[in-house]
Amino acid sequence: MDAHGYDRELREVAKRDRAREAAFLQKHAGSGGPPQLANRIAGRRLPPLEGTYVDKHDPARGKVLCQVPRSGRPDVEAAVAAAKLAQPAWAATPLAKRCAVLRRTAELIERDMDRLVRMESEDTGKPVKLAGSLDIPRAARNFRFFADFLESRKEAVHLTEGFRNETHRVPVGVVGLITPWNLPLYLLTWKVAPALGLGNAVVAKPSELTPRTADALADLLAEAGLPDGVYNVVHGLGPEAGEPLVAHPDVRAVSFTGGTATGAKVAAAAGPKKLSLELGGKNASLVFSDCDLDETVKGVARAAFTNQGQICLCGSRILVERSLFPEFTRRLAEHAKGLRIGDPLDPATDLGSLVSQSHRAKVETYLEVAQDEDATVHCGGGRPDLPGVLADGAFLQPTVLTGLDQDSPLVQEEIFGPVVTVQPFASEDEAIALANGVRYGLAATVWTKDANKAQRVAERLDTGMVWVNCWLVRDLAVPFGGVKDSGFGREGGEWSVDFYSEARNICTKVTP
Ligand code: NDP
Repeated sequence: MDAHGYDRELREVAKRDRAREAAFLQKHAGSGGPPQLANRIAGRRLPPLEGTYVDKHDPARGKVLCQVPRSGRPDVEAAVAAAKLAQPAWAATPLAKRCAVLRRTAELIERDMDRLVRMESEDTGKPVKLAGSLDIPRAARNFRFFADFLESRKEAVHLTEGFRNETHRVPVGVVGLITPWNLPLYLLTWKVAPALGLGNAVVAKPSELTPRTADALADLLAEAGLPDGVYNVVHGLGPEAGEPLVAHPDVRAVSFTGGTATGAKVAAAAGPKKLSLELGGKNASLVFSDCDLDETVKGVARAAFTNQGQICLCGSRILVERSLFPEFTRRLAEHAKGLRIGDPLDPATDLGSLVSQSHRAKVETYLEVAQDEDATVHCGGGRPDLPGVLADGAFLQPTVLTGLDQDSPLVQEEIFGPVVTVQPFASEDEAIALANGVRYGLAATVWTKDANKAQRVAERLDTGMVWVNCWLVRDLAVPFGGVKDSGFGREGGEWSVDFYSEARNICTKVTP
């Protein structure tokens, strides 16, 4: 479509949607009830076409925070159409200008840090300490990193006997981004920043449990100068809004982060398009007797319980060399008991609530299995006693269990909560066999002072990522992703460039 046709079509879309947006804003202003979020399509706040909403609760306090559009296929179609219209002009915008928008967005996220931290904490139940040190700063970092990375990239040139090959990256077009509830803005911006930087237009479907920062990002991107229609958000439930987005023929690439079972559905619905699947994990922390014990207890506990154990990278299977097993388990349980569990909005809180009552109920079914299997509970094992408004929040104590076999569901399945198992091993070979003996393969950590052993073990682990004497250290240029049931595809640095753009080679005869 030429520029004139594009403008005309945009104007028609704008005219059609203006009345719907005005009606939405009017209703919203006068209602007095919980605020209603809108979809963000072509720069407008649009209510779902069917007019239905789901309540979004604060999981720590139980109160309704807002209502989220329960969008369906027609809303997805409107968002994809808006993205398709806006994408060519955005792709034609010089790289330097696109990167300036990314950098400005990073600044605006930092400007609005307190507001976004509170929003993320209320939506997820995570402590403000974590949202303020990890989630929101990382969202800003995602934008800044990709702006710098994309601007410093060199296009490949190959000279062959009188011919010059220049390989350029061209955007994929419209990309669909589907994100989970555990790190809402962090994971969304990990996808949005490279997608926009490379000239794509985006339709995002955040988890309906944690919708507000995706909505806030629309305002920040617009303030940073992103044209209308380049970033669109459709809220709603996975099967009703996510699946039509994944299957839409005009969506040329889908980046999905979520559970393995959902990932399989996404792969089936996507058809012939680019797909990146970042799925579940059941990550092992391998602790050798020659580790630095103080540092290892702290590091392993952090890997186990950060975000109440609701990070795909959490180390929930702790494997300890037999000679250190009793002492390590005791020290780990002591450390866990010292974590302060309580109001997520209190800056001193270490552990907040799980994301929802239903997710806590799921985690608790594993505690029942642990009881049936006669596991030893070294700490936790139930709900904490919290006062006042927090009494009915979705809190759960950090729990350390031993005595479970390798084939126990607690060892094999992703619990995604503050529940870890500790198993002993007698040799390097046994440690590696236990670590690799699950269907997941996302990440692992190795704790030892022996650098040769660390290298040897790391090379035999069947995971996409290994950390040695550390955890969750993220250089955004390195590949992120897993193997086996943890998904396929990598994102980060050059891998994100590969995913969010296509290589186009132009071979020219060189005239002497
Ligand atoms: P889900 O798989 O339930 O959902 C992820 C997203 O997919 C949500 O937005 C969800 O919407 C949507 N969705 C659900 N069904 C469909 C469908 N049929 N088609 C398209 N989209 C759909 O994951 P959770 O939100 O429960 O997040 C936790 C999971 O995410 C864990 O397994 C965790 O390991 C994984 N994860 C993986 C990471 C990685 O990088 N490997 C990082 C972080 C988390 P709705 O919320 O409405 O259901």
